[in-house]
Amino acid sequence: MNPDVIVVGSGLAGLVATHELAKAGKKVLVLDQENRNNLGGQAFWSLGGLFLVDSPEQRRLGIKDSYELALQDWLGSAAFDREREDTWPRRWAQAYVEWAAGGKRQYLHDLGLRVLPLVGWAERGDGRADGHGNSVPRFHLTWGTGPEVVRVFAEPVLGAEQRGLVEFGFRHRVDELVVEDGAVVGVRGAVLEPCDDLERGKASSREVVGEFEHRAAAVVVASGGVGHNHELIRKYWPTERLGKCPETLISGVPAHVDGRMLGISETAGASVVNRDRMWNYTEGIVNWDPIWPDHAIRILAGPSSLWFDATGRRLPAPNYPSFDTNGSLKAILASGYDYSWLVLTQTIIEKEFALSGSEQNPDITSKDVKLALRSRLAKGAPGPVEAFKQHGVDFVVASTLRELVDGMNRIARGPAVDHDVLEKQIVARDRELGNKYGKDLQLAAVEHARRYVGDRITRVAKPHRILDPAHGPLIAVRLNILTRKTLGGLETNLDSQVVRPDGSVLPGLYAAGEVAGFGGGGVHGYNALEGTFLGGCVFSGRAAGLALARSL
Ligand SMILES: Cc1cc2nc3c(=O)[nH]c(=O)nc-3n(C[C@H](O)[C@H](O)[C@H](O)COP(=O)(O)OP(=O)(O)OC[C@H]3O[C@@H](n4cnc5c(N)ncnc54)[C@H](O)[C@@H]3O)c2cc1C
Repeated sequence: MNPDVIVVGSGLAGLVATHELAKAGKKVLVLDQENRNNLGGQAFWSLGGLFLVDSPEQRRLGIKDSYELALQDWLGSAAFDREREDTWPRRWAQAYVEWAAGGKRQYLHDLGLRVLPLVGWAERGDGRADGHGNSVPRFHLTWGTGPEVVRVFAEPVLGAEQRGLVEFGFRHRVDELVVEDGAVVGVRGAVLEPCDDLERGKASSREVVGEFEHRAAAVVVASGGVGHNHELIRKYWPTERLGKCPETLISGVPAHVDGRMLGISETAGASVVNRDRMWNYTEGIVNWDPIWPDHAIRILAGPSSLWFDATGRRLPAPNYPSFDTNGSLKAILASGYDYSWLVLTQTIIEKEFALSGSEQNPDITSKDVKLALRSRLAKGAPGPVEAFKQHGVDFVVASTLRELVDGMNRIARGPAVDHDVLEKQIVARDRELGNKYGKDLQLAAVEHARRYVGDRITRVAKPHRILDPAHGPLIAVRLNILTRKTLGGLETNLDSQVVRPDGSVLPGLYAAGEVAGFGGGGVHGYNALEGTFLGGCVFSGRAAGLALARSL
């Protein structure tokens, strides 16, 4: 094939760019270091949560949302403060929120994607109206989760492959961008040993069996972030902002999320910005049934569990589960240790624990309505949560607090938690339950959340005493820091063209998805509102595809 465009990466961003290009009749060569089984990259494993603003689903639930409110939330979260590096991210942020409040839902709907009627309330914020967080629920779960997000783009792209418009080069690892006369004109790299039968997500061999060079009018880099590259994460970790980098990091993304293309693009003349901005989660548990090395799962916990640092001190307000990811990370690391504890009851786990990842939500992923109703509304925790409770190394289950603390201290990586200190704090919180009001801000947040029908039905347990045996057994979960998203990256203009450090366009080079900080080199700024990553891949991949379709 004599391609018009080479796309590096067959994850979501690469698929979207390819889809737009093929729609416009352009010939595309898609190169990926992994095998065909990995088509769709990280998006396949994702929960498929999508940030939408003023959607019909929100309106049906009585949620009043608007572009203005969403932009206020976005800018409050992003906290852009860098004159040079935040120039494009600021513009991307405005354009992206406009799209989330405008054409995004229809674009995805036209491709066949549907969302669930109940809207989730992720990242509820730091308590300031103009600060970080979602003022209202905006997390729309895809019916079919990540695999469905992939399907709606993969199907037309595979159709274009059959028509000869798209060609894939799997196990083709790009090691260099070819630059001539100041423009990117192609790619060079290594052909890796074939592994057709290796299952999706498994780490693959890096044995080189050949080399390649391909040329085209433009190259779109869509190679993902740095999430599995702990070396790069440690190198750029923002110690002054968040505290010392954790000694123990577990990986929320597959091994192919290696961040190599950032350095390779930089060598070719690209500007990489905001490398110190990352989105790593505080609620990581070790997967008892791993797919990739160090496989970590994120607990999406509702607001009721009590959260203690490694020394057994309750995290200060408003560090409640799912409120303020970076704020909580800072509070945890301030203890001098890199893990923390959730303490909860069986009643809370049943209603409030969800796990992020398509494979952890088989009912929604397989679009099985009956299974979904049974597992979400029936008594007991959903199957995958129960499996972690039984097999996960981070879980302690006990009928008394004394036994619970003994169990916690058996798996603690730091100081022993003192039973009496923990008990005093839990009893104090439990005493606040006597009235419908009180001064415990977490209980106020729980009452507040239950005023939203979506939370009351599926997400937030009725307040009860943690030490009430009727709600037992007691559960403690050791939470580790889980690596996931890269918020900085290749600096791009609104057409996804990569720019040089002097701000001029680097001809021939485009970037989309996580490698471009989901647009501009960091559309999220310092903090994300959740469900914004898949959408960021779609928005920036689409921008690259449309711009190239116009210009070629
Ligand atoms: C468990 C999980 C849950 C998530 N849940 C959500 C959610 O609910 N909502 C949300 O918005 N986001 C979510 N995300 C994040 C989202 O899925 C990712 O940010 C997004 O899919 C990244 O897509 P991408 O195309 O930019 O990169 P990737 O999916 O990483 O794809 C990049 C591709 O490039 C290839 N590649 C890399 N380097 C090279 C090279 N040198 N040569 C050739 N090929 C190369 C890789 O092999 C890979 O296939 C989740 C992620 C995970 C892992």
